[in-house]
Amino acid sequence: MNDPSQESAKDKNTFKFCLQCPSANNCCVRVRHGLGEVESPPLLNGEERLIAAETGLDVSAFAEATAASVLAVKRGNNCCYFYKNGRCAIYAVRPFDCKIFPFDIIEHDDEFYWIVYLDLCPPEVGFSVKVGDFKAAKQFLRDANIRRADLAAFVRYGREVMAPHRYKLLEPVTLAH
Ligand code: SF4
Ligand code: SF4
Repeated sequence: MNDPSQESAKDKNTFKFCLQCPSANNCCVRVRHGLGEVESPPLLNGEERLIAAETGLDVSAFAEATAASVLAVKRGNNCCYFYKNGRCAIYAVRPFDCKIFPFDIIEHDDEFYWIVYLDLCPPEVGFSVKVGDFKAAKQFLRDANIRRADLAAFVRYGREVMAPHRYKLLEPVTLAH
């Protein structure tokens, strides 16, 4: 983080434990294929159009179709396409998936469920789920106003790419519609 305005935006819009994350280890750097790594964030609800408008890029420059029929951000040089100079170049309009990570949503007993990954944040963070951080994740979901069909695609993509990771089941997801 070398842009002060970006840093203050991060303070207000991320989880408390993320503020302790050493930048060399954070999840944006680990966006690449393979066990122990983090897959590219999927794009929902027209997020690609928002990012295209913000950056002036064509969607095809930064997004690609996946086997799960959702668009996902491309990988750059062994990290997310938008991870530049030690920070997210689109922080204000980063995908919902990035906002909620390391929380995620899966399907469990025919219901959408909140989970949190247990093996992806660096040990220095001393990660543990705090009520305030989980509330913030749920607020990100309310703000995103995601339709059930889009959330189903998001979950399908997550099932394909995040299956190897250990997680803790939290509670059922409540959707506005
Ligand atoms: S790796 Fe974990 S603690 Fe670090 S920025 Fe990502 S979610 Fe936050
Ligand atoms: S879009 Fe931004 S926050 Fe999301 S993985 Fe890429 S660099 Fe990180």
